Amino acid sequence: MSAQNITKSIAVLTSGGDAPGMNAAVRAVVRTALDKGVEVYAIYEGYQGMVDGGDRIRKMDWDSVGGILQRGGTVIGSARCAAFRTREGRLRAAHNLIKLGIDNLVVIGGDGSLTGANLFRQEWPDLLAELVNKKSISKKTAELHADLRIVGLVGSIDNDMFGTDMTIGADTALHRITEAIDAISSTAASHQRTFVVEVMGRNCGYLALMSCIATGADWVLIPESPPNVDDWESKMCEVLKAGRTAGRRDSIVIVAEGAADRHGNPISCDYVKKVLEERLGEDTRVTILGHVQRGGSPSAYDRYMSTLLGEDAVETLLDAKADDEPQLIGMRQNRVTRTPLMDCVQKTHSIADLIAAKEFDQAMDMRGSSFKEMFRTLRTLVRALPHPPTPGQRRLRLGVLNCSALSPGMNTATRAAVRIGVDKGHIILGVRNGFQGLVDGDIEEMGWMDVAGWATRGGSELGTNRHMPQGSDFYAIARHIEEHQIEGLLMIGGWVGYQAAYQLFLQRRNFPAFNIPIICLPASINNNLPGSDFSVGADTALNNIVEAVDKIKQSAVASRRCFVVEVMGRYCGYLALMSGLATGAERVYLHEEGITLNALKNDVDYLVKGFQEGKRLGVMIRCENANKFYTTDFIRALFDEEGGDLFDVRQAILGHLQQGGDPSPFDRIQATRLAVKCIDFLVDQADFPDPGASFIGLQGGQVKLHDLQDLPRMVDAEFQRPKKQWWLDLRAIANIMAQPGPKPRL
Ligand code: ADP
Repeated sequence: MSAQNITKSIAVLTSGGDAPGMNAAVRAVVRTALDKGVEVYAIYEGYQGMVDGGDRIRKMDWDSVGGILQRGGTVIGSARCAAFRTREGRLRAAHNLIKLGIDNLVVIGGDGSLTGANLFRQEWPDLLAELVNKKSISKKTAELHADLRIVGLVGSIDNDMFGTDMTIGADTALHRITEAIDAISSTAASHQRTFVVEVMGRNCGYLALMSCIATGADWVLIPESPPNVDDWESKMCEVLKAGRTAGRRDSIVIVAEGAADRHGNPISCDYVKKVLEERLGEDTRVTILGHVQRGGSPSAYDRYMSTLLGEDAVETLLDAKADDEPQLIGMRQNRVTRTPLMDCVQKTHSIADLIAAKEFDQAMDMRGSSFKEMFRTLRTLVRALPHPPTPGQRRLRLGVLNCSALSPGMNTATRAAVRIGVDKGHIILGVRNGFQGLVDGDIEEMGWMDVAGWATRGGSELGTNRHMPQGSDFYAIARHIEEHQIEGLLMIGGWVGYQAAYQLFLQRRNFPAFNIPIICLPASINNNLPGSDFSVGADTALNNIVEAVDKIKQSAVASRRCFVVEVMGRYCGYLALMSGLATGAERVYLHEEGITLNALKNDVDYLVKGFQEGKRLGVMIRCENANKFYTTDFIRALFDEEGGDLFDVRQAILGHLQQGGDPSPFDRIQATRLAVKCIDFLVDQADFPDPGASFIGLQGGQVKLHDLQDLPRMVDAEFQRPKKQWWLDLRAIANIMAQPGPKPRL
């Protein structure tokens, strides 16, 4: 082994509680390392495998991490290891690593595992000195591996770590929880029962809070913010009782595992059940979700986020100098970031300490502003009835409509807008069928309970269509705005909705009725809207695609087959690229890149060579409008013909299943967050003589507003997509993961 090779060996392990998405991270570490010409090992069974050595530390090649992306848990195993807590155990671990020339470690685990890794790194020189003394290794070997470099990725479903907005597994856990609570709601509603549901989170209320928002549940108890009154039981019962009186058929209380009252006394589900039965006489059932939350196939987000983190872990190790502080690779503001590892561990511990010391405000501050904001929003959404309007307060009349193609989450956004608007004392008018409803005057006031149950429901209860107003439509719209005295307009929708809102803004000179605040909330599965990293519905569509491709791949296990899968997106390749990353597709065809005959020829050569060498399955994903001439069917026919007897080729056009289904937790949360801000905007602007017209979005995790007049400047009108698309930067990583060997130039 040459000195150069020796210093470049990397090992990856998963430790502590398993989390869905760990496999994606391991796969990315292995493939990135191989792409950089670095030897890479997987350590099986966490630190136990490191202490045991032997065949627990295995060299990996490209195919050793094939077919694992969609699997839950961790295929390389995880364990709690008492031996690694002792110096003796760590000495054996160091020896096992050194024997293979490994002095770079990617540790994927919780704060315990990362603390252990840091200690190991600090001790490393001493451990090597001891091994030299014992003549277990030579002095030269010790010198060659004088330093251990480590990076940490956080695998934890609780989302309880400082230094990353999301931990590996948290999004999948939210999927499991929302699926379970949605299912419980329907049975609860049938019998008018109350359910108390316990979700994981010992020191962190993330899962409880976000699942309460996502499922439209009625009460939540989290560790960071215990009920602020001693007699919280009465308050909870009052709200649930008012809900029943207002016509709610189900009542759901979500309790985080670590929930406690202000004095630190734990609040158990059984206690909540007892209170509800005794005080309300309700038939109450307890469901502890337990390990179901950890299980199952990772969500699209957990697959691609973990892939990005794994890639950056290797880059970080290869960039690191010996005395650099170890880094935690996380996701902040929708970008991969590196933060000093032990800083993150310490801050994570200090949140737990603050909770233990009953410093709840500070604990909430450390969770960050969006967590606090969502908790505030939740308190309004769970009310059974709105606060009565303040006497003398101006009551605005605000219109809300859904427009463009259907996008899951439209109902969630509408519900939040109605409830927040009404709670603030305003009148919300629902417009049916998009702008057509404004043309036709199909407008009705919406009450608090009219939107009950909408948080979780796919489709659009208000109705949506692609009608783009023109000519005399504007007169009709102006008349109906005046007749209904609409003083602000919220458009929840996609490309056509943005264009229509822009037209209203342009026509303000001709129609004074349009001189009202207007705001657009991005809702399109295509994610082709400016000013937002994600539009509501895109995450649901991505998960729908990923589930479908998983099934398609499974269907092919018995035959040698290549699939060409066509996904939606029009001219925007977001769904194609991200589903490629999340399903392990070998090739993605995007309109942004175009398709050339030369590229197709390379793909044919790649497939032929692959199937000749024993490959059994190929998946290529094509955005629907990637190229006018090289259609999905053309590519299928080309591959099929060239594949001859070696493999056969099928096309799968996924179609409308992508738009269907109930919204994903992320889409529900995002829809709620944005709708609240939209109502704030309309209310703030209503009194200005020259009110604003804007579109809203999430950029880098923050809510941002843009002037509608900037819309043309920010988009490529011909291809109906934003001029700047952040996710195009991820193509390089998708290429590394997709195929071994030289990569196409971008
Ligand atoms: P998590 O990583 O999910 O927080 P644990 O706290 O159980 O889970 O840690 C997983 C493993 O990491 C432990 O079983 C042990 O082997 C190792 N570990 C944790 N803390 C330390 C420590 N302070 N020193 C050495 N090893 C540790």
